[in-house]
Amino acid sequence: MPNAYFGKILWINLSTNTIKEKNIPDEMYAQYLGGYGLASKLIYQNLPPKTDPLSPEAIIGFFPGLLTGSIAPLTGRFMVTGKSPLTGTWGDSNCGGYFGAEIKKCGYDGILIKGKATAPKYISIIDGKAKIQDADALWGLDTNETDDKLNERHRKVKSAIIGQSGENLSLMSCIIHEKYRAAGRSGFGAVMGSKNLKALVLKGNVKINIADNEKLIEITKEFNKSATSAQSGAMYLYNTQGLACLNTSAGISGDSPIKNWKGIPDDFPMESLSKISGDEINKYKVKNYGCFSCSIQCGALMKVPEANLEETHIPEYETCAAFGSLILNEDVITLFTLNDLCNRAGLDTISVGGTVAYAMECYEKGILTKEDLDGIELEWGNSDAVIEIVERIIDREGIGDLLADGPKFSADRIGKGTQEFAIHSMGQALPMHDVKFFNTLGRTYAFDPTPGRHTAASLDHFASGLMRRNKYVKEFKLPRGFKRAGDERFESMKLCDSFHHSINSLGLCYFTYWFQTYPLLELIEAVVGWKVSVDDLLKIGARIQALRQAFTIREGVILAKNELPGRVIGDPPFEQGPNKGKTVDYKGDYKGYCEKMGWNPENGYPLKETLNRLDLDFVVDDLY
Ligand code: SF4
Repeated sequence: MPNAYFGKILWINLSTNTIKEKNIPDEMYAQYLGGYGLASKLIYQNLPPKTDPLSPEAIIGFFPGLLTGSIAPLTGRFMVTGKSPLTGTWGDSNCGGYFGAEIKKCGYDGILIKGKATAPKYISIIDGKAKIQDADALWGLDTNETDDKLNERHRKVKSAIIGQSGENLSLMSCIIHEKYRAAGRSGFGAVMGSKNLKALVLKGNVKINIADNEKLIEITKEFNKSATSAQSGAMYLYNTQGLACLNTSAGISGDSPIKNWKGIPDDFPMESLSKISGDEINKYKVKNYGCFSCSIQCGALMKVPEANLEETHIPEYETCAAFGSLILNEDVITLFTLNDLCNRAGLDTISVGGTVAYAMECYEKGILTKEDLDGIELEWGNSDAVIEIVERIIDREGIGDLLADGPKFSADRIGKGTQEFAIHSMGQALPMHDVKFFNTLGRTYAFDPTPGRHTAASLDHFASGLMRRNKYVKEFKLPRGFKRAGDERFESMKLCDSFHHSINSLGLCYFTYWFQTYPLLELIEAVVGWKVSVDDLLKIGARIQALRQAFTIREGVILAKNELPGRVIGDPPFEQGPNKGKTVDYKGDYKGYCEKMGWNPENGYPLKETLNRLDLDFVVDDLY
């Protein structure tokens, strides 16, 4: 058996009740690693073009990173993959916890599912036996209740579960693991719901081979020692406040969008931000927890008596901003309530916050009245009203049905010019980082094959961590002029993007770029036994990105034509606040990026010679 992987995946067809192992050649790991890299190749090959993502023919994949399952620090991620029903493009959604490592413990490098069960089912892979089991008694339960029931039935299992929102095919629905960790974006909860699939339930004890276990332990101990002894900086903040540590700094700097992206910090000033700060959130903490193989432990169990929550989980930055500055809500208790409601129902908090903000602006402008909103007065900052709206979205009841698929689809239904302030990219509500603050997010929000994503390798985001000082991975350097407009900045976008797709496909947490120099090449050698260079990883990442792009083009989507809402990019520019006077040339960034990637800057098609250089010749006929 090779090191780090098993050379096989599990294929499950819910229509035919068949479960089959499929061998994967070594070459494919060398070219695509694991995670969504490997998944992109398998799904590209097996999903017929233009398949309806909510049809039985659609495929959904669950793939751990290549290093996942080893003790290499912060490598516990898994990715849910397939065609997004929300955007109609390639979709992948990254999640932490223990599920990725458990896929490996079951002896697989990934699980692919197609078909549709005739009644609610869950898939269990327990102690080497894979089964499709009845889920009648679980259908209708929330993700927390389902997790408890599955653990009663099977003991100590790791599950990926949909709530009521996935069951009722909300395009904002997600997949929840460990009651809190979310594969949040791209609407994959609805794909599971469309297959009548309530959960994947795993327990295994298969071990992966490690190339050099002694070396791995030595490197890991060294990394963890520095990580846990650091009493200041990002590690300390992440450990004590989770991602909520960003709530105040992002709110005041111009990073957090305010009042459905039209506000400035004066609309939600420090006085408001301090009420929902990381310190305030931290007051309710019971204990920390983290993902497999991570010593940072940025997750936490919370107890919030004021919200009648005996046990709940820490809301992270995106959730706090989406239910905070975006809707002018300064009530910290409702942040816990809304986070808990969404996690239980299996709803993506970014999408729900974006949809509520859109509805609030409709109410402010008199386009939606109190009667339209089932008697709810949806004024900015009215947190009780927001809770009522979210409860209706979960049940798809009344106004909740109209809003249940996110801002784009809500605006399509409501009309009356409201598309102008439905803030999304290709249907995906935009995340809580302002393009006018992190400029290169404009390109990724508009044009990444998974549009509307803040974790799709914006150069600015990357360079706000250790990359700024070229200290993230010591062999990986950005050109000196990466901050200035022009050639070196475009080259840096290419480098960050390509590297990013490799680190994701290895299973690393995105936050590794914040903490301390990460011994990436040494860890790959210790776990897999490969001596790879940064150039090798850049080529693999560029291959994965070109394949994600080709998938999206094959679906008939030309992202190069996509546009972001004016207020997102500063067109017209804001007249006040930290982003005053800024207009982001995200289209110019895309052209420069495409040229560096070897893609046609007019339409985003990877050029034939690029596809051939990246060993993607099988794609050429589909695109040309
Ligand atoms: S930093 Fe947080 S999200 Fe990342 S691996 Fe560690 S616990 Fe998980």
